[in-house]
Amino acid sequence: MVIVKEKKTLFRYLEKLQIEGRRPSFVPTMGALHRGHIALIEKARTVGRPVICSIFVNPTQFNDPKDFQKYPVTLEEDITQLEAADTDILFLPTVTELYPNGITGLEQYELGYLELVLEGKFRPGHFQGVCQVMNRLLAAIGPCKLFMGQKDYQQCMVVQKLIQLEQLPVELITCATVREHDGVAMSSRNKRLNPTERQNAVGIFRALQSMKENIHPGNLSNLKKQAGLILEQHNFRTDYVEIANANNLELRSEWDGKETLIALIAAFQNEVRLIDNMPITP
Ligand code: AMP
Repeated sequence: MVIVKEKKTLFRYLEKLQIEGRRPSFVPTMGALHRGHIALIEKARTVGRPVICSIFVNPTQFNDPKDFQKYPVTLEEDITQLEAADTDILFLPTVTELYPNGITGLEQYELGYLELVLEGKFRPGHFQGVCQVMNRLLAAIGPCKLFMGQKDYQQCMVVQKLIQLEQLPVELITCATVREHDGVAMSSRNKRLNPTERQNAVGIFRALQSMKENIHPGNLSNLKKQAGLILEQHNFRTDYVEIANANNLELRSEWDGKETLIALIAAFQNEVRLIDNMPITP
């Protein structure tokens, strides 16, 4: 695996491929890698080489400075995992490399409703930061295919919107959420949980499952209330427990028994904010 820190070096690698008419598969990450990330690399490898993975903890997408400072960094282990997964290139830019003019006064993207609901509502500015970094990474790498996890369901929709707004020649491929043995979605933030918090973390999965298993046509408020209680029992402080249309994220308080829905949760285990979701197909 080649490790590249500068865009211009990356460009030299990619130039040769371009002459052959090849464009890379790309997996963006913030590091502290786990099996969820590696599943994306493996998927990317089956679709087309070279596979480029980026590790960059993007400062512009953190609305909470403490969350940014405490974001886990495990670079040596990450490199070992990426090599074992047969990644071709690791792109490891600095903040100045991606934001040569600084991280303030940046362009704004017209994300509309996506920025007003769920993660958009509870993390103001977060999706602008996601778009800023993704636009820069996609410009530097010029991938044919981009691989992202359904664990960050709304983020996938935002990036799809960015692709459409900027008319980027890339196809977004989303991959299923990889879970721990007890159902907890793999997440870099799980590394910040102490043993008790880690045990409690399963509450999100149980709350999502309870919504999926107990849904009936009609009013959904009791279903969401029950899920909220499960979170409380697991010592969670809840940002939201919602059920939405799976295609546009419009929130639903009623179900007609036909619409494809998704249940979404964001909640804190003490300082650590976790998110997860589960599709509810009729
Ligand atoms: P992150 O490093 O958390 O920014 O995530 C990088 C990519 O990995 C994003 O596309 C995430 O959606 C994806 N990802 C994170 N956790 C998982 C998981 N448990 N299963 C599948 N994909 C994941």
